Amino acid sequence: MPTVIIDPGHGGMDPGAVYKGRQEKDDNLRLALAVGELLAQNGVDVLYTRTDDVYDSPYRKAMIANESGADYLISFHRNASPIAGNASGIETLVYADRGVAAQMARDINRELAALGFRDIGVIERPGLAILRRSRMPAILIETGFIDNDADNLKFDEEFEEIAAAISNGILETLKNEGQLPDSISSASYPPEISNNTQNERPPSPLSDNTPTSKLYRVQVGAFKNRNYAYELNSQLTEEGFPAFILMDGDLYKVQVGAFSRLENAIRMEYRLRAAGYDTYITT
Ligand SMILES: [Zn+2]
Repeated sequence: MPTVIIDPGHGGMDPGAVYKGRQEKDDNLRLALAVGELLAQNGVDVLYTRTDDVYDSPYRKAMIANESGADYLISFHRNASPIAGNASGIETLVYADRGVAAQMARDINRELAALGFRDIGVIERPGLAILRRSRMPAILIETGFIDNDADNLKFDEEFEEIAAAISNGILETLKNEGQLPDSISSASYPPEISNNTQNERPPSPLSDNTPTSKLYRVQVGAFKNRNYAYELNSQLTEEGFPAFILMDGDLYKVQVGAFSRLENAIRMEYRLRAAGYDTYITT
């Protein structure tokens, strides 16, 4: 399975762009988690540089990605213009406009443009540390301008469609690269979860519009050895759990779901324990 490391831009003391109290770091995290959840449901191994409100420099995040062994790096951001409200649309940044990174950027832009976003294009930004220092194909998606009210309205009202569009662009590239079977269908959000221990689909973690600053995650294991983490992650994914790996210092933390409500994390914990896993809830 291809492995994608997802980097929600900014975090912690670095809010990114801010407009009318809205912080880019929160939008980035929310969208990144939703896209990651969809990718995990469609045969991709998903890793994150952060799943909560913490700061690492772009350089450090590139190093985390390099150490993770991931095949692709996808960084999530929102744009801002020098004069607020003067620009709108989506664009995807790459180190150089060539190869599979540029192809993935185009596949994502096309899907987002189909939702009605203005497509600014694929832009070369070789100076960005996250793109320059990472060794795998890397892209940085700017999902609309945070200082544009119309873009923000679209971001909020069509959040699920946007997450699905970005996921589908990524899946399209992976299929064309032969890294995913053609039988993988298009993603839709909230994702379908196949599990037989409970008929009811667990609520999607991020669809209730609550702030992402505090999320409950169910941890199933923490390893210094990457292979152990990958193995457990694959096993959980095959059993239908929305598992991912959080890179935290020198630890690979295997977690399932990211829930804004504690009760949902507890329900996931019950399902995991019923399937024989040791778990604990972390924030
Ligand atoms: Zn940013």
